[in-house]
Amino acid sequence: MSAVYQNFIDGQFVDQKHSEEIEVLNPATHQPVGSVPESTDDEVDAAIAAARAAQRSWAKLPAIQRAGHLRAISAKLRQHVDRLARLITSEQGKTLELAKVEVNFTADYIDYMAEWGRRIEGEVITSDRANETIFLLRKPLGVVAGILPWNFPFFLVARKMAPALITGNTIVIKPSEETPMNAFEFAKLVAETDLPKGVFNLVSGKGASVGARLSGSKDVNMVSFTGSVAVGSQIMKAASQNLTRVNLELGGKAPAIVLADANLDLAAKAIWDSRITNTGQLCNCAERIYVQASVADALTEKIAAHMKGTRYGDPLAESTLHMGPLINRQGLMKVDELVRGALAQGAELVTGGRIADREKGYHYEPTVLANCGHGMNIMHQEVFGPVVPIQKVDSLEEAIRYANDSEYGLTSSIFTSNLNHAMQACNELEFGETYVNREHFEAMQGFHAGRRKSGIGGADGKHGLYEHLETQVVYMNHA
Ligand code: NAD
Repeated sequence: MSAVYQNFIDGQFVDQKHSEEIEVLNPATHQPVGSVPESTDDEVDAAIAAARAAQRSWAKLPAIQRAGHLRAISAKLRQHVDRLARLITSEQGKTLELAKVEVNFTADYIDYMAEWGRRIEGEVITSDRANETIFLLRKPLGVVAGILPWNFPFFLVARKMAPALITGNTIVIKPSEETPMNAFEFAKLVAETDLPKGVFNLVSGKGASVGARLSGSKDVNMVSFTGSVAVGSQIMKAASQNLTRVNLELGGKAPAIVLADANLDLAAKAIWDSRITNTGQLCNCAERIYVQASVADALTEKIAAHMKGTRYGDPLAESTLHMGPLINRQGLMKVDELVRGALAQGAELVTGGRIADREKGYHYEPTVLANCGHGMNIMHQEVFGPVVPIQKVDSLEEAIRYANDSEYGLTSSIFTSNLNHAMQACNELEFGETYVNREHFEAMQGFHAGRRKSGIGGADGKHGLYEHLETQVVYMNHA
């Protein structure tokens, strides 16, 4: 039976007139699983107004009490891991196991941000004047609008909400129209806690209507967006009308460099891991491999063996699946087009290379392409699917040159047993993150931020948290 949801505004699920509903489809079965409102402008404005009305008193609560509210939410999530995971899988297509990891990680993330309740710091600065002290106070921005993508739809609610709330901001969330239902289930659990009304609000709808309304609102103080470069740029344009701050977590085309002195088993496993997790639909996972020529064949063979052994199918099936389908037909066709393009441009097909022959679901065969070249689109455009393109290089310097010659600058990695090579790569790779001898998955205490078109600002850790604060300088004459 398909579920029907209502917006969560000012502490209540509201029954208002929607011009239309958005139907949500299961990417593994193509069957409808539910519907959510295409919100009207009035509803979006009501959510922003509720967040604005609640913000002052929320900010006045001691941060440690705000932390208590966050912990009440994470405790609720932990009581419903299996149910939430099934819902995430049924609308997004990731394996049930990964969906459970997502829910548990989300609860941990909220707890981690709650810990900051006792750690947000101002500063005291020496003045040039006698009997004067200069203080830097950290203050919340006000109302944050969180606009989400579909790939980690549940976690991203928390990645927007938790740092905003612990710092005294209130929030309006807009989930992706592809995967909105799990955000509504999140809101239902929030509603079961005693979080003050208006602090957390949720409105669903399309990007061009609801997303644009939020981004262009003069009553929003920061738009915190995760998604594509194209939409990030539209949001920035809309926000510029009111000079609203933006925090943009955008796409990636992460290079992984494998040198001749690397542990090839480790490199192949890590590249495979970060390539098939979530069916390759991750902004940070290894999207292009630069391998030193002398070990290229050996590495390619090892990666291909992993890819050939990848089990995929119906993600709700209780089995040890590695991956489910891609999110939708558009995603599937984009992967297919990039692979065909690479083959036409001279890449060599090692394994895969086709839309998978499955009865249902947007499945693509786990694919390895060898002999790729810097001129090929597949080395520059985000594939967002289970495809590993491999290019041979002669030296670390050449690999770094290719790696940096990209519109994107989110994550990168190097596999080597030589400390000098590792440090050279860390110093010269122009990316927000560099992983050494490990897969591309960030930690909540790090800082997830992209260079170039991968974004502006960042998330996680102290630095992500402080993006939700602004500084007020106090010149205190105490003569
Ligand atoms: P998308 O940009 O198509 O959509 C993201 C959100 O933006 C959706 O909620 C959509 O409704 C909304 N939107 C669309 N048009 C809008 C507009 N004009 N104004 C305001 N909002 C609008 O992205 P997607 O397809 O959902 O997600 C995939 C992309 O997200 C990939 O490029 C991926 O790399 C990126 N991503 C980045 C990170 C990161 O941390 N850097 C994390 C996850 C995903």
